[in-house]
Amino acid sequence: MWKQVKKIIQQSNRFVITSHVGPDGDALGSELGLYYYLKSLGKEATILNATPPAKNFTFMGKNRAVKTYNPKRDRKLIDQADAVFILDISEWKRLGAVGEDVQQSNAKTVCIDHHICLKQLFDVQVIDNKAGSTGELIFRLIKDMKKKLNAKIAEPLYIAALTDTGSFHYSNTSPSTHTMVAELLELGVNPLNCYNQIYEQHSLERFRLLGQVMLNAQLECQGQLAWATVDKKLARKVNADIDDCEGFVEMLRSIQTVDVSVIFREESPQCTRVSLRSKKTTDVHKIARSLGGGGHKRASGITLNLPLKKAIPKVLGEAKKSFKKRGVK
Ligand code: AMP
Ligand code: MN
Ligand code: MN
Repeated sequence: MWKQVKKIIQQSNRFVITSHVGPDGDALGSELGLYYYLKSLGKEATILNATPPAKNFTFMGKNRAVKTYNPKRDRKLIDQADAVFILDISEWKRLGAVGEDVQQSNAKTVCIDHHICLKQLFDVQVIDNKAGSTGELIFRLIKDMKKKLNAKIAEPLYIAALTDTGSFHYSNTSPSTHTMVAELLELGVNPLNCYNQIYEQHSLERFRLLGQVMLNAQLECQGQLAWATVDKKLARKVNADIDDCEGFVEMLRSIQTVDVSVIFREESPQCTRVSLRSKKTTDVHKIARSLGGGGHKRASGITLNLPLKKAIPKVLGEAKKSFKKRGVK
């Protein structure tokens, strides 16, 4: 499959790069890494995402190369593209309007991802769910093409690896993650700056929201299931943004007895976003998939077109079923 990707890069001149809605550190990091690589080959490339970056990655969105898709302005870039790279996602649905327009175009589609994907949906598909981040796969591609990396390519790839491995402690962290990172640091990446830009830009309001959310957190299934909700009313009460709850689900997981943590986020009266994490035992991807979501074994998400009140029993019901199978009530 890499061979086909390389051939497409060699034979094409115009590229569009895209990723999932609410692009995160790995989405933007792998996009920018690939973007600077294609630029170094003298190719034309544009990054088009259906929605702006997730809150703590807005600094990456300030890069002029990253555009939030505006069909009137950008549709022609898709129509003129020889190939479209789809990174850190392997389904059409979460590509939003970009995906819809790419499907109508003649461009070849190349998907590079590390999520669990069971179908062939793109012209070329390189999926390695053992990779810690899509950034690692982009690194592998560039190394394979015998091209030297440079500092511009290195920083976004570092951010991809940093964020998707939970700062290098999740089980997807491998020797090859660290080998790559060593090389990126040699190229001048500044870890303190990267960490500061992503994890040390919080508002006090976010911590006030954390306090409120944790006050209402619940433990069930003999302490192995932790869950909490974040609704608009609560966010308003402490003058916080609903997206300030990013990271809360990992905190809930870190409770000693917990294996599965769940955060329910009210997107709108009819839409709830669910984040699931597992520490060691439960496969939360199975739970997410059964309800139309996806992700990884230890980190998954679901977007439900349901109000918060209806989403909660639906997801908890599935989670509890999985505990019950193992004799935990
Ligand atoms: P999050 O909880 O939003 O940080 O997402 C955790 C993981 O689940 C990420 O790898 C996402 O790509 C994936 N994910 C989140 N939301 C969805 C969704 N609605 N459908 C499929 N996968 C999702
Ligand atoms: Mn991602
Ligand atoms: Mn990823």
